[in-house]
Amino acid sequence: MENKKRIYTFGNGKAEGKTEMKNLLGGKGANLAEMNLIGVPVPPGFTITTEVCTEYNKYGRDAIVNVLYDEVKAGIENIENLMNTKFGSEENPCLVSVRSGARVSMPGMMDTVLNLGLNDKVVEGLAKKSNNPRFAWDSYRRFVQMYGDVVLDMKPKNKDDIDPFEEILERIKEEKGVKEDTELELEDLKKLVKEFKKAIKENTKKEFPECPWEQLWGAVMAVFDSWNTDRAKYYRQMNKIPEEWGTAVNVQAMVYGNMGQNSATGVAFTRDAATGEDIFNGEYLINAQGEDVVAGIRTPQQITLEGSKRWAKLAGVSEEERKKNFPSLEEAMPSAYKELSDLETKLENHYSDMQDLEFTVQDGKLWFLQTRVGKRTGAAMVKMAVDMLEEGMIDEKTALLRVEPKKLDELLHPVFEKKALSSAKVMAKGLPASPGAATGKIIFFSDEAEAWKEDGEDIILVRIETSPEDLKGMNLAEGILTARGGMTSHAAVVARGMGKCCVSGAGEIKIDYKKRTLTMDGKVYRQGDWISLNGSTGEIYNGKVATVDPELGGDFEKLMKLSDKYSKMYVRTNADTPEDSRVARKFGAKGIGLCRTEHMFFGGDKIKAIREMILASDLEGRKKALDKLLPIQRQDFEGIFKEMHDLPVTVRLLDPPLHEFVPHESASQKEMADEMGISIQEIELKVKLLKEFNPMLGTRGCRLGNLYPEITQMQTRAIIEAALNLKKQGIKAIPEIMIPLVGEMKEFKMQEEIVRDTAELIFKERNDKIDYLVGTMMEIPRATLTADKVASVAEFFSFGTNDLTQMTYGLSRDDTAALIEEYVKKGIYKNDPFQVLDQDGVGQLVEIGTKRGRSARNNLKVGVCGEHGGEPESVKFCHKIGLDYVSCSPFRIPIARLSAAQAAIEQE
Ligand code: ADP
Ligand code: MG
Ligand code: MG
Repeated sequence: MENKKRIYTFGNGKAEGKTEMKNLLGGKGANLAEMNLIGVPVPPGFTITTEVCTEYNKYGRDAIVNVLYDEVKAGIENIENLMNTKFGSEENPCLVSVRSGARVSMPGMMDTVLNLGLNDKVVEGLAKKSNNPRFAWDSYRRFVQMYGDVVLDMKPKNKDDIDPFEEILERIKEEKGVKEDTELELEDLKKLVKEFKKAIKENTKKEFPECPWEQLWGAVMAVFDSWNTDRAKYYRQMNKIPEEWGTAVNVQAMVYGNMGQNSATGVAFTRDAATGEDIFNGEYLINAQGEDVVAGIRTPQQITLEGSKRWAKLAGVSEEERKKNFPSLEEAMPSAYKELSDLETKLENHYSDMQDLEFTVQDGKLWFLQTRVGKRTGAAMVKMAVDMLEEGMIDEKTALLRVEPKKLDELLHPVFEKKALSSAKVMAKGLPASPGAATGKIIFFSDEAEAWKEDGEDIILVRIETSPEDLKGMNLAEGILTARGGMTSHAAVVARGMGKCCVSGAGEIKIDYKKRTLTMDGKVYRQGDWISLNGSTGEIYNGKVATVDPELGGDFEKLMKLSDKYSKMYVRTNADTPEDSRVARKFGAKGIGLCRTEHMFFGGDKIKAIREMILASDLEGRKKALDKLLPIQRQDFEGIFKEMHDLPVTVRLLDPPLHEFVPHESASQKEMADEMGISIQEIELKVKLLKEFNPMLGTRGCRLGNLYPEITQMQTRAIIEAALNLKKQGIKAIPEIMIPLVGEMKEFKMQEEIVRDTAELIFKERNDKIDYLVGTMMEIPRATLTADKVASVAEFFSFGTNDLTQMTYGLSRDDTAALIEEYVKKGIYKNDPFQVLDQDGVGQLVEIGTKRGRSARNNLKVGVCGEHGGEPESVKFCHKIGLDYVSCSPFRIPIARLSAAQAAIEQE
């Protein structure tokens, strides 16, 4: 192995490392070093680099001991000198902790051993020196247990197994009739150590190692091994942390929070991680060590007096009892508290971010053991970024980069009440199709939704999958649950548009329409039973879980304004109704990027008219139906154009595969037969004739308009007349007419001519005119490759990346949710390409299409209107390739605005 520095020491205000060396020293090690440098009291120690972990995985234990030997020895000597103790000494022992610490924190994934260096002789020395035998033996029993669990691999492998040490501890406490560890006396602790060692012998067939050096090497290697446990691997996969990063190992002098009533250990946050408020808070325990606070073995106490009083109120503890049994650190150890509160401010200022701290008080003296940037909720993230900006702690760009776009979602939809959620049971999981929280009674049939709503019930619509017939039910429901369909299924797309909570593709649930039952995790739910959905996680809960509306404060607005200051792209919305348009404008949409006209037909009587048009057997029949549709469409457009006055609205002409519209159930077939005055058999036949084996690749989009020009004529008329009507009222509409599913320039050309001829005709009729554009939706690979030809006639491009992904991958959007999930699990796909734009493939087509398009028309306006328009990584890609805008569902607009700003800042 090459000759290089593998160990970095720290202690007594000096350190060889610093924060910026996180990659080499891990987060914990780098910050331990940094705290030394800025005068925060930290027990001395050293960090073995992450590179050694990688070497260990390659060369194995012996080679590593060999190459580290001298440096470790020197590191220990450094600790000994600074602490004035000796490792392994029976009179004046030096004990250390051996702690893992990767580049990014992997909470609870990896291991730590405390009190290392103890054995039967050393423990006596520690007892004598501290004049506190109980403390010495308490430390020893903790060490033997941790060593057994971590180094000797006796930790339970699954959650049903019992830790052999816990079993012994429980037994001895029971025999003695005490509840808490702190009530155990010296003799009990000695007995524990003895029994623990016996358990080790039985389990491992080896003696517990008495030699401190053997203990040390064992623990170091165990930390390296903990990088490769199944749970650590799984965590890395989930969080996309590379295998080769490795963990560092920190060896550090012990300080003792378990030395008696004047000692304590705790954790603290420099601000409130849930709300973002600038309130120092945390928990501690007297006479305790390490993880005792978080392990839940005793009720932790609050650090500040204010926090303690608030806690007591919530817990129903009287002030008298609080003071006596649960005093704050501020009251119990005023001078340590004072120092802690000064240093928390210092650390937050130094790192310019909220810190999550670990500390120990040993006999009245305060020590810090860890500091790191604290995790926080979406709401806290926004508040802290804006507060810190206003406090002058960070600049505008940093504030923008501090907020994870995805987390904004949490702020925009109803959320579960925290307390209610903590006791809720997850029954199954589906895809997080549309965020938010919803709770209601199960119904299975959309046409029954109204009756339930009239009775004042909150309902959840549960379907195997949804179709346009379900629109009304979806609209009335609090949330939607489907067993089939992916992130771009009908249910998912429509729900997102509505800003309505939806969990789709929950494959493990069983729905029986006949019996009207839903079965999850073995439990049968009937119509009217309560369930709750979390559309942000895909979780389905048993029963009623209370929800609350989100509050969008001034901080959110400030952050959005700031985003617009830096972003180069603007954000439009996908909206099909005036209501959606209003919401979208509120969220800052600069226009509509996709208005799907067929979605406008979904409600009530409208669907009848479009069905009539589809089912008509000749031109005359179609025209009759189209005449019915014209006023409906015109009115819809007027509504939308009005909401979006002075902003462009891209209207896509009719696109759906026809089978989505025709009635499949005999009741609705009968209804249509009556409506059209023909026999039900005729309807059945027509439905059969329209059936396509690959409707997604069938007669849809501009193909419809080219086969039946009268449809395009009617739609153009509705659009242009709506705009002219508004013009009379002094309202400016800016329509952009979009021809869908173009694969060949001539397909576009033919449609464009129909549009322009129709518009001219109306201008003449009305003796008035408006400006409008005609462009195309780019969603067929062939169109992107021939984009220069297409752009020679089209005035704008809008990449429909849902279909483009479907056609580029040859993956059906509606049938492959389960397959994609499996592919992601197997690592074949990095992400679901319908959620995160595939930059390598589909993205390339977008880039090529944009370039070739602009080569033919340099002012070509280009945007993206697929689901990707609201996904942060995809938005950043769109910025990179120079698109003018992205368009997404209303509730994703803030995410897109922030992502666009971040993309611009990151590119600087
Ligand atoms: P994790 O990464 O799981 O938080 P840590 O290495 O931070 O693990 O350690 C676990 C617990 O032990 C923490 O509460 C930490 O403060 C405590 N601890 C670690 N090293 C020492 C030490 N040298 N002296 C006292 N307590 C320690
Ligand atoms: Mg820790
Ligand atoms: Mg499409």
